Amino acid sequence: MICHDCQSALPDLLLDPAAPSNAAAREHMISCADCRGEFESLQATMTLLDTWKAPEPSPYFDQRLAVLLREEQAKAPAGLLERLRSRLLFNTGRQFRPALAGALALVLLIGGGAFANLSGILSGNPEASPAVTDLQVLDKNDQALQTVELLLQEENPNDEAPAIPAS
Ligand SMILES: [Zn+2]
Repeated sequence: MICHDCQSALPDLLLDPAAPSNAAAREHMISCADCRGEFESLQATMTLLDTWKAPEPSPYFDQRLAVLLREEQAKAPAGLLERLRSRLLFNTGRQFRPALAGALALVLLIGGGAFANLSGILSGNPEASPAVTDLQVLDKNDQALQTVELLLQEENPNDEAPAIPAS
């Protein structure tokens, strides 16, 4: 048996060292100090994990959770703003991800370009004062944000605020 095969057999060996299928690995470990060391280190890790106890939740956890749940259920339905906020907070945001990734890349490009003072070179005006450069960068950021807004609107034509129920 070679070392690679022996190391693949280590998990089986840990679970059942006496199994007949592990005989070859056991034999290899007698002559190979590397694999023996690996096995012993894994064994030590497992022994340590065996002594670890997961902490018990507080005995009142379930009751307190139930009380909180009842309180939330008893509350008046949230207003439109509140619902919008929770929608934004807890939305998985899957539909926004491609647009957001593009927007972030754009912002990074612009920000990075400004940081490396590339904007002056690109606009052919390396002598521009820092204030002018800053204003140009701000203007470009503004354009980028507008582009992002357009992208978001185009990608989600049906993704509007939740309808307000007539009451
Ligand atoms: Zn070996």
